Amino acid sequence: MTGPVAKKDEPAMRVRYSPLGQQFAEVDEILADVRELVASGDFTLGKPVAEFEAMFAALIGTRHAIGVGSGTDALKLSLKALDIGPQDEVITCANTFCATAGAINEVGARPVFIDCDDTFCMDVDRLEAAITPRTKALMPVHLTGEVADMPRIMEIAEAHGLPVVEDGCQSLLGELDGRKVGSWGIAAGFSMHPLKIINVWGDAGIVVTGDDEMNRKLRLLRNHGLKSRDEMEILGYNSRLDSVQAVVGKWVLRRAEDIVEKRIANAAYYDAAFREVPEVRLPPRRNRTRNVYLLYMIFAEDRDRLYQYCLNHGVEAKIHYPIPLYQQEALSHLGYGAGDFPVTDRHARETISFPVDQHLRRAEQDYVIETVRDFYSGKRS
Ligand SMILES: *Cc1c(COP(=O)(O)O)cnc(C)c1O
Repeated sequence: MTGPVAKKDEPAMRVRYSPLGQQFAEVDEILADVRELVASGDFTLGKPVAEFEAMFAALIGTRHAIGVGSGTDALKLSLKALDIGPQDEVITCANTFCATAGAINEVGARPVFIDCDDTFCMDVDRLEAAITPRTKALMPVHLTGEVADMPRIMEIAEAHGLPVVEDGCQSLLGELDGRKVGSWGIAAGFSMHPLKIINVWGDAGIVVTGDDEMNRKLRLLRNHGLKSRDEMEILGYNSRLDSVQAVVGKWVLRRAEDIVEKRIANAAYYDAAFREVPEVRLPPRRNRTRNVYLLYMIFAEDRDRLYQYCLNHGVEAKIHYPIPLYQQEALSHLGYGAGDFPVTDRHARETISFPVDQHLRRAEQDYVIETVRDFYSGKRS
């Protein structure tokens, strides 16, 4: 026999989950900008941060954008700017990423969870019942690239006089009724962590707000509460957006719209194929929203075995998240118990995520689809 022989048990293809290796293939362009920064010595705040903030505010269409150290800090500092602290409750979702609850905890407040629906966002029908005299803010999460029902959430928030801080970390450029994530609440936090829609070379986050006083407070809070070099107006934090990351961020942000368009096209391609697989169920696809698909997450019968089959066949699928946040050991003091949030629990059992990023090739998507089909046809026969 001539030519390479496929090793037995070696999958026909390997489809990686994360595209980080491909994202910065043109690194020399960015390094030239970094070299310029190094020569300027402008390492804290300064020009690149201001430029990145202006670009970000323009992209979302908000008055202000304030660069901070991480997405978690974007949420934490927003709550802090609203004077939320010990004894206060902040309502959020039982199925979110742990950082949402972490940010609420960091200001000393108590996260109060409500269940989600099959869009993976807050089930707004449950919101009103969760509001107590201690509730001081709402933190809806736009999970997976989807968009929470913000018009209804804002209506309830206004009726109760509660500020809303949107967790937009997973849904940059998501829209509902033509309005962008981040444009409803008094503030919204975004992340540029390597696994988000846009990513830099480490941790970074940004807050958007249309409120001048929030903007002023957030700028103080991220920089020790200093209003000038020598005057500290309030107690704050060291949570500046790193200037090097701002340089990288400017480069990536110009590509944000293209990145999102590719993800949406990839998701539509999967959707068309998976609609024909009876054991798979797609989440509702709503015309009102622009889902930006940070995660391509679907419901699958016999999920655990499908997941293992995918891994065995070279498809790096993921589960977001196998242990629901509200059941995590770190939050046991909140007093929630297994079964308190049945939709979240069902999602933990039934969902699976496949790569959907801008660098994914059609041949890789076809292989993912074929692998899922093969798993179920093997079971049927
Ligand atoms: C990633 C993420 C965060 C936190 O962002 P970091 O930049 O990692 O701190 C917060 N909320 C959600 C929903 C996230 O996915």
